[in-house]
Amino acid sequence: MKRVPIRSWIVSAALVLSVQVAGQVDSVAMRYGAAITQDMLRTHLGVLASDAFEGRETGRKGEKMAAAYIMDQFRKDGIPPVPGGLERGLMADGYRQQFPVVISKPGGISLNVAGKDAVFMKDYFTFDEQLAGDLQTGEVMVLNTLTLGGAKLGGGSKVVLLLDDGKSGNGLMPDLRKVSETLVKTGTQVVLVATPGAKAIMEGFGGAISEGRMRLDVPERKNQSGGVQVMVVTMDLAESLLHAGGLNVKKAMKKATRKRLVVKVPVRFTSKPLDEHLTAENVLGYVEGSDRKGELVVVTAHYDHVGMKDGEVYNGADDDGSGTVAVLAMAHAFAKAKAEGHGPRRSVLFMTVSGEEKGLLGSRWYTDHPVFPLDSTVVDLNIDMIGRVDTVHGDSSRFVYVIGSKRLSSELGAIVEEQNHLYTKLDLDYTFDADGDPNRFYYRSDHYNFAKKGIPVAFFFNGVHADYHGPHDEVDRIRFDLLQQRTLLVFHTAWELANRDRRPVVDGAN
Ligand SMILES: [Zn+2]
Repeated sequence: MKRVPIRSWIVSAALVLSVQVAGQVDSVAMRYGAAITQDMLRTHLGVLASDAFEGRETGRKGEKMAAAYIMDQFRKDGIPPVPGGLERGLMADGYRQQFPVVISKPGGISLNVAGKDAVFMKDYFTFDEQLAGDLQTGEVMVLNTLTLGGAKLGGGSKVVLLLDDGKSGNGLMPDLRKVSETLVKTGTQVVLVATPGAKAIMEGFGGAISEGRMRLDVPERKNQSGGVQVMVVTMDLAESLLHAGGLNVKKAMKKATRKRLVVKVPVRFTSKPLDEHLTAENVLGYVEGSDRKGELVVVTAHYDHVGMKDGEVYNGADDDGSGTVAVLAMAHAFAKAKAEGHGPRRSVLFMTVSGEEKGLLGSRWYTDHPVFPLDSTVVDLNIDMIGRVDTVHGDSSRFVYVIGSKRLSSELGAIVEEQNHLYTKLDLDYTFDADGDPNRFYYRSDHYNFAKKGIPVAFFFNGVHADYHGPHDEVDRIRFDLLQQRTLLVFHTAWELANRDRRPVVDGAN
């Protein structure tokens, strides 16, 4: 067995001692925990997860309505705007941190092969458009997927046709990222990937592809395929391209296996980006601490959801309406405590973020543009879906998945367990915290952006269920008893972290 280094032995021994010493119920914390009622959670969720909020899609009307509602609750609780908010990058109201997003819609690049216009979503499609300006060429280099790995590419052509015979496995290509990283070094700007799967993909996922993808509107955004524009084309289009050069797919496949193959054919690309620019907002409720106010405990949940599809509202009551109302309830309890002379020693930031469903955008914006210094941010407690049970645990089970709480700080992991032991006695399930868990939940919600910066995190989650990202994630399916208990666990953990003498020691890695 591997020897435990003496330093970490001392840390764990100290930890055991401090846990034993601190292990008693705090009646003040309990009094304010009692302010977190099922009624309050139900009232907030009834509003935020109603059809009027249109599924709270990032940058859209429903998201603005939700942000306004959350801000209003912070005000009603007597939480003042963040001091010096404007200088810290907040909007004039002192609660909202706005960030720019862009939806890049495919279809902005037109393609003409040998004088004939190809049709978007019939002959070709793209996921991600990054061609800078128009491009014209008289030759196309042909590669096939068999030779690609070890191919000596030689001097590059601006345009490459990559032929996939459909036998290489997943239908859509080897690792496109790797391919384009290699090709970009030889001067290639566009890779046309011809695959038998192209037609089926356009038929099956056309809607999703045309919708485009949202991301932060920042200069370094274009890096999905290593700098090369990838376009997926049908085998028919590949045939007509090769035909213009006196070849066909079958022959070209063979030839390309043996040697460098270049076809003389005029190909033209015209680029007119179809970007849609929007703004989104994180909403911050800041309860300033007392003697340790320079340090910060962050509690997060995302208030955005996926919006509407085919006229149907996806209300996201669990995802993540449940976390949002939990944050509101905790902010209320902390504000009440402070008003009555029991405010936290450290400052506590209750932050509902947006853009989570689009790729953790709001939390990334915050951690890239922190409103409070990250090195005095001691923890992020993140909640994403805590109002339901999953298919693994029965209805009678009082459980919550805890993820990441022991990774960066074993002390944080111990604190969560201690608070649970003292106040909530939930069954803490660490299944998804296992190294190499295929679900990768640790990387899939907002806490991860904090963890990436070295800040200890704990993520609270109820697992997935049949209504996950479906139209029936509704308020009437929420278990308010469990939602309340899980909120209390986070509340007591936040209370302890805000009031204990030392911030949790960072002794681990992501
Ligand atoms: Zn979600």
